[in-house]
Amino acid sequence: MMATSTRFRVSVADLVKRQGAMRAIELNEELGDLEIGGLKLSENGRVHLAVALEHIAEGLVVRGELETEWAGLCGRCLCPIIGSIRLGIDELFENDPVEGDTYQLDRDTIDLEPLVLDAIGLEMPIAPRCQVDCAGLCAQCGADLNLATCECVAERESSVWDALNEIVFTESSASAQPE
Ligand SMILES: [Zn+2]
Ligand SMILES: [Zn+2]
Repeated sequence: MMATSTRFRVSVADLVKRQGAMRAIELNEELGDLEIGGLKLSENGRVHLAVALEHIAEGLVVRGELETEWAGLCGRCLCPIIGSIRLGIDELFENDPVEGDTYQLDRDTIDLEPLVLDAIGLEMPIAPRCQVDCAGLCAQCGADLNLATCECVAERESSVWDALNEIVFTESSASAQPE
């Protein structure tokens, strides 16, 4: 009987027998309908993982690359945006893992799912924007300021200039006062 297999569980029976043994694997699996930090993973959480497994004295090292895509809303103008994540993986699986640091080596299998979830969670953008200088929405009328300038902005700008003129006027009249 084989151990129950999940999408990211990998047999390492061939590697645990001999220290120094190495093997490359490539997984293209779905994590499912998942939201991390307010952003949803695209294509039912499809993750592409290309890693090398190596049996070293401490355990099993997993080293390589992870790629996935996400979809969400721009933090400023709320338009839908998509992005991708590509990051390096370098983690240790061992018999007695250190919580928050290494992962569980289950005799002759490893489950890469916790590693994948941790890695994506760390890499997800916190407040993504559609563009670096997204103008956002007008706080007053809700207009998308990337597309058009609304009346509120014009009014606000003119009142700022009025205020500045007043300051300049007050200061110059103050300095013009006779000693
Ligand atoms: Zn935006
Ligand atoms: Zn407005």
